[in-house]
Amino acid sequence: MAHPDDIEFFCAGSVVLMTRRGVHVDFVLATSGDKGTEDPKIDGPALAARREEEQKRAASLLGADQVEFLRHADAELTESLELRGEFVRAIRRSRPDVLLTFDPTPGYRQHPDHRVVGRMALDAAWPCARDRLTHPEMGPPHKTAEAWLFAGPAPTLMVDVSTVLNEKINARLEHETQTGSSAALRARWRHIGAEERFTQVDLR
Ligand SMILES: [Zn+2]
Repeated sequence: MAHPDDIEFFCAGSVVLMTRRGVHVDFVLATSGDKGTEDPKIDGPALAARREEEQKRAASLLGADQVEFLRHADAELTESLELRGEFVRAIRRSRPDVLLTFDPTPGYRQHPDHRVVGRMALDAAWPCARDRLTHPEMGPPHKTAEAWLFAGPAPTLMVDVSTVLNEKINARLEHETQTGSSAALRARWRHIGAEERFTQVDLR
């Protein structure tokens, strides 16, 4: 993921459905969202610290195991060997069957951090984490079976998360720095949040 609250927006219902079935889910966030405020009274480092705590509380509600913050600067991500290597390390440690990340397909009005994270995470899963001699310092190789990409133009997998919509909304509301009216958010998300869409990609 790129920022705190990306998970809640794009895939938190699917995460709850997974963790309730005993699936282990780890979160990796490239930034801590240090640019995400219009409040002139809070600076970047203080905001990042608050947002990490918000994300940890949300992760706990969603049943996630680990939350790792790579602490790159918000809105400054670029495709790099450093970021790719960090994702390889996370994949080789977590050893997932499924990678959930952004669809990096170019589109208008796509947050540049979302595009970069999607591209680097996919490249990390296939082929870099799979290949023993690529980023050898980042742990033993791992084959991720598939990726579920969100926010893309052509989703192929619809997940009905209506049974866990409350949990999803409650996790989103933990992101207090990103919430104006919680009642308005709750009403809006009841309307838009019950289905999550992914493009399923075979990585084997
Ligand atoms: Zn984001």
